[in-house]
Amino acid sequence: MSTQNPIFIPGPTNIPEALRRAVDYPSIDHRSPTFADMYRPALDGVRRVLQSSDAEVILFPATGTGAWEAAITNTLSPGDKVLAARYGMFSHRWIDLCQRHGLNVEVIETPWGEGAPADEFERVLKADAGHSIKALIVCHNETATGVLSDIAAVRRALDAAGHPALLYVDGVSSIASMDFRMDEWGVDIAVTGSQKGFMLPPGLAILGIGSKALERVASARCTRCFFDFRDMMKTQAAGGFPYTPPVNLIRGLSVSIAMLEEEGLQRVFTRHRRIADGVRKAVDAWGLSLCAKEPGLYSDTVSAVLVPDGFDATRIVTHAAEKYGVAFGVGLGEVAGKLFRIGHLGSMTDVMALSGIATAEMVMADLGLPVTLGSGVAAAQEHYRATAGRGAGAMPRAAA
Ligand SMILES: *Cc1c(COP(=O)(O)O)cnc(C)c1O
Repeated sequence: MSTQNPIFIPGPTNIPEALRRAVDYPSIDHRSPTFADMYRPALDGVRRVLQSSDAEVILFPATGTGAWEAAITNTLSPGDKVLAARYGMFSHRWIDLCQRHGLNVEVIETPWGEGAPADEFERVLKADAGHSIKALIVCHNETATGVLSDIAAVRRALDAAGHPALLYVDGVSSIASMDFRMDEWGVDIAVTGSQKGFMLPPGLAILGIGSKALERVASARCTRCFFDFRDMMKTQAAGGFPYTPPVNLIRGLSVSIAMLEEEGLQRVFTRHRRIADGVRKAVDAWGLSLCAKEPGLYSDTVSAVLVPDGFDATRIVTHAAEKYGVAFGVGLGEVAGKLFRIGHLGSMTDVMALSGIATAEMVMADLGLPVTLGSGVAAAQEHYRATAGRGAGAMPRAAA
């Protein structure tokens, strides 16, 4: 694998030079004011990216999965009922994690390629007159299928049922790349990790926690120690950590947020939409289709491309890595071998995306798939030419 080529997996994402420099920092005393001075802006910045006015932000040395575990164990008790839908590998892994913590998960099986079934949720919530369901767990952007779910619709389902279940949202592959409105959508806990939209190395679990979820912490009986919100909040008030903090990543996070805000969050979202639209036009020009069932579900951070029946899509990923030194994502779980994924989130420009599209074409032609070289590139180029404007494709100079 070349370390010069951009990667096109949906996480970890490309690390901009400015962030590689930001995490290259000598050891400091984490009990000193120097640490507090980089910690507080990172916490405040995450809150703004989540579009929340008052969420408690907590960072653990972990990954997105650790953030899920922290969300569950701090607010629920073994035997508690939670509601979830399975429509891809990541929603599946949430369910598995809940079950291993002894929660009683009611699973709505949903075809892979579809999103969170708000109507089904509403029906189940309405039927739960005794309010035994304590939380509803939703994957915002199912990275395995390239499907973006409508969290506002899920909130409406909860409200229409008049149900007090908390809403936990996995925003690992959406937050900081696509619009995520914690307050407006009434999200009680939002989780992500450092290595996706924040463009950093892996190693930080990032959570936004609303007041209703915090109220459950004292009575929750799931075991936790390293991930205890209470220890974290107590030390956070004094600008510190209950154990050694991942200083370099926290420093990187504050620089990442400064970069996102220099570009402007809305422009970050628009850039991802525009890049994704170009990728989708390429897929169309290849005569292929996405796993996502309809345009309303298309993700702007990852495109999962279905290959013709009988062809093993994993060969595309292996060949791209071996011959061209470029990484694409494989199909996971139920869609293994049926699709390959082009990740286009984080530090990504239209020009970078064109190199990924061109590589995918070479690979498919090498493997005998009926793809005309240049067809997808040309379709994307037309889109990028037509929509380029002041800064429409480019990230700020520091980001590039
Ligand atoms: C990457 C990802 C995860 C897992 O995060 P890790 O940081 O690998 O633990 C969870 N959910 C979604 C939607 C993801 O894309």
